Amino acid sequence: MEPQRSPLLEVKGNTELKRPLIKASSRLPLPGSRLKRGPDQMEDALEPEKKRTRGLGAATKIATSRSRASVLTTVPHTQGPTASQKVPRKIGPPCSTAIATGVKNQKPVPAVPAQKSGTLAAPPMVGGKKPSKRPAWDLKGQLCDLNADLKRYRERTQTLDQENQQLQDQLREAQQQAKALGTECRTLEGELARVRAQAEQGQQELENLSAHVLDLEERLGTQESLVQELQKEQLELQEERRGLATQLEEQEKRLQVSEAALSSSQAEVASLQQEVEAQAALLSERGERLHGLEMERRRLHNQLQELKGNIRVFCRVRPVLPGESTPPPGFLLFPPGPGGPSDPPTHLSLSRSDERRGTLSGAPAPTTRHDFSFDRVFPPGSGQDEVFEEIAMLVQSALDGYPVCIFAYGQTGSGKTFTMEGGPGGDPQLEGLIPRALRHLFSIAQEMGGQGWTYSFVASYVEIYNETVRDLLATGTRKGQGGECEIRRAGPGSEELTVTNARYVPVSCEKEVEALLHLARQNRAVARTAQNERSSRSHSVFQLQISGEHAARGLQCGAPLSLVDLAGSERLDPGLALGPGERERLRETQAINSSLSTLGLVIMALSNKESHVPYRNSKLTYLLQNSLGGSAKMLMFVNISPLEENISESLNSLRFASKVNQCIIGTAQANKK
Ligand code: ADP
Ligand code: MG
Repeated sequence: MEPQRSPLLEVKGNTELKRPLIKASSRLPLPGSRLKRGPDQMEDALEPEKKRTRGLGAATKIATSRSRASVLTTVPHTQGPTASQKVPRKIGPPCSTAIATGVKNQKPVPAVPAQKSGTLAAPPMVGGKKPSKRPAWDLKGQLCDLNADLKRYRERTQTLDQENQQLQDQLREAQQQAKALGTECRTLEGELARVRAQAEQGQQELENLSAHVLDLEERLGTQESLVQELQKEQLELQEERRGLATQLEEQEKRLQVSEAALSSSQAEVASLQQEVEAQAALLSERGERLHGLEMERRRLHNQLQELKGNIRVFCRVRPVLPGESTPPPGFLLFPPGPGGPSDPPTHLSLSRSDERRGTLSGAPAPTTRHDFSFDRVFPPGSGQDEVFEEIAMLVQSALDGYPVCIFAYGQTGSGKTFTMEGGPGGDPQLEGLIPRALRHLFSIAQEMGGQGWTYSFVASYVEIYNETVRDLLATGTRKGQGGECEIRRAGPGSEELTVTNARYVPVSCEKEVEALLHLARQNRAVARTAQNERSSRSHSVFQLQISGEHAARGLQCGAPLSLVDLAGSERLDPGLALGPGERERLRETQAINSSLSTLGLVIMALSNKESHVPYRNSKLTYLLQNSLGGSAKMLMFVNISPLEENISESLNSLRFASKVNQCIIGTAQANKK
């Protein structure tokens, strides 16, 4: 392969080969005639210089651009100067400068002194003086000059060739270096790009790490505060733990003490249990005895009541009310009994002056004394509590299973209602027998609960007016109207009686009883406005059905307690004219008298143990048939007015009561099932 030749060398070769020295000598310019040469001659004369310059320019271009250099190398060297002239006449910077700038850090190329090139163009100097112009004829001299010039040019050319050679070497070296540097540069660029990418990635990672660090710092802060809190809490807990440990110690000590106490207690409990068992046995034995005693008590109580009489009569004289005329002294006397003044009074004397006899004889009118004796006499000053005390035992008989019936008999205004229901104004001191009896029953029933007895009470309250029965506990639309009721047997073959259309209200406390009495008063008040003083012309019957049960022993007992406020017993004045009002009054009175006398007859029949007892002759006796006779216990209050003017009615009442008092109704028997 042919070594690549530098274009500079090619130019030089062409120039040297194609220029014949002889021909050139004929054209040698004369000193001072240079200006006369034509453009071609000037071209030729300057050609080596130009070509060198152009070659350098090309070399410079090669150094800066490899592509341009390759173009230059493709130029065929047969083209001669014409072809070489076509190379663009671009004059680059001086060769040394170009290399110095193109290839840095390379060996410096020795620069051609500028003065030398300047001497090339200048004419030769002789003796420091400018040689004088040779005459035209001095051809030899001119030749000699030309040879000298040629010699200089040759030397110069040689120098330049060497220089050129050096430069080319340098150029090659530089090119190689440039090539190596280019490769290195690309490698470095690649590396740089890789490093940049790495740097970017690193930067990104750094940012991420920074964010992470910030996050971690934040979390660290939170954790630190948490740790502080936990430390604080730990301290508190430690403190608490210490306290608890102390407490625990104390508790353990106490526990030990307690355990000791417990074991001693257990022993005690065991002995107590034995004791309890013994006590329980004793208790049941005592319960048995108690029950036996209770039964004995009932028997004795009943015996006592019987000894007192199954029919008892109490006389009660009401006080003189404000505005009433005081009776003369000695009109009413309460002589002491056989036991002296300390004994409760049982006698009563009424004294009446016999005016007729006095008038006939002219002597002072003699007095007729009427003595009466009853089971008990209550003078005007006797209080409600005193009266109730006497009947409390009787009321208790109702709980023991004996029917009990209490009447209030007497003329209107004698104090029957006061005795039964109580005085006006709701004064507890003036409470009558009904509220007191019920309170007494409730309290005894509660006591009996301790012995296994349970009691229930059902109340009814009716009035019998002109042989018609009306409910005093009616409410709502029936209130005050007292819708008519009928007395019927509770069931076929049943002894028990019931009043149809009447309310039967279970009661268990005083309040409920009070409410019922209040309702009855209201019902009577309404009736009173409709029919004048009907209350005193009718019988009021309060009945309490008592049911007791001893579940453990399978015992039952039940009896009615009847509290009856009878109608006024007064008779009509036979001398009175019979107007329409009086006729009605007469009918009322006849009905009352009939029912009261039937009551007397019933009591008599019972006392005489007659086979027929006329219960059916009046509504009152019919309703009360289960509370009279047989095992029943009866008490009659005869209420007396203290006034002299009422003496006839008082005597009538006392006589009626005395008859009743003489009656003895057979031995009472408890309604035990
Ligand atoms: P009756 O019901 O028999 O018609 P009352 O009970 O209505 O008679 O009594 C007539 C009046 O006498 C009433 O004002 C009553 O308060 C009064 N009264 C009756 N008994 C007593 C008594 N023991 N103490 C005080 N006042 C009485
Ligand atoms: Mg009355």
